[in-house]
Formats: sequence, structure tokens, C-alpha cells
Amino acid sequence: MSQSDKMPIVAMQQLGNRGKTQMLNVEPIENGTVIDHIRAGKGKKVVEMLGIDKNSAGRVALVMNVPSKRLNKKDIVKIEGTFLNEEQTNLVALMAPQSTINIIKNGKVVEKREVEIPNLLKKVGICPNPNCICNTEHAERIFSKEEQGFRCHYCERNFKADELVR
Ligand SMILES: [Zn+2]
Repeated sequence: MSQSDKMPIVAMQQLGNRGKTQMLNVEPIENGTVIDHIRAGKGKKVVEMLGIDKNSAGRVALVMNVPSKRLNKKDIVKIEGTFLNEEQTNLVALMAPQSTINIIKNGKVVEKREVEIPNLLKKVGICPNPNCICNTEHAERIFSKEEQGFRCHYCERNFKADELVR
């Protein structure tokens, strides 16, 4: 069990029209993925970009504004029944570079990944250049990591990480 799983997790849920927030307890998951240390405010984007929606099989918890020593405040995403693959891990790395991915099986953390963007990023991210051939011809997206940002293999322009995940 990781620290984040032992911690009493409290989720803030916006109650639509009344605009109040309510405290909710979120149970630890038995099998699935916990993305921890997401910079506060980015959790919702992570859920969206991973394509998690009402059609996903398991329960999903987005826990926002959790006090964190490392980040001051962080978001945590728990996805029941889903184990992130390499592409999804890279996608998370683009959106939340300091995050940690915990793979949970039978209630135990069996794998802990510090997310790191590979030097050659394939299939994830979208080139923000609307005229880029990878957008018009649906070519496989390839970006190479540089000292500053990422360079599109096709149009050779350099972009920041968050520009690729808009
Ligand atoms: Zn491009």
C-alpha cells in the first residue's frame, strides 16, 4: 500500500446549482491505477485526456486539492479496473510531469512508475500546427524531446508539453 492509499482520501464534489462542496470518502481500489502527485488543477484534464468517461467499466475518483509536501496541493486520480499502458503513461507524463503512477492489484501496489517522457514520443499528443501533415493525413504522431519542449517530426516546429495535449 502506498502512502496515498493509506491516507484518508476526501473528494470534493461540486454540487451543481447549489454551488456547495461536499466531502466524500473514496475507498481504496482493489485493482486499477492510482495517479498521484498530479499538480493541483490538472487532474480533470488527466481524466479527460485518458478518455475516461461514463463508458469506462470501473469507478473513477478525481480527488482534488489534497495537501502535499512535494507540491503543496495535488490532485489524485483513481481508476478502477484499468491499468495504464505505455501510451497512456506518456500522455500522463505530458500533462503532469511530476506525477507517480501506482498499479494496484488485489489491493497492493505492484508497480510504481515515476512518469518520464521518452526521448521519442510516439502516438500521443497532437501537433498544434493545423497545417502539419500529421493532422491533415493522420500520420503517426512523433515528437522528439529537446532541452526545451518537443519538436514535431513532420513540421519541425517546437512546442511546449501542454501545447500537445490541448
Ligand atoms: Zn507538426
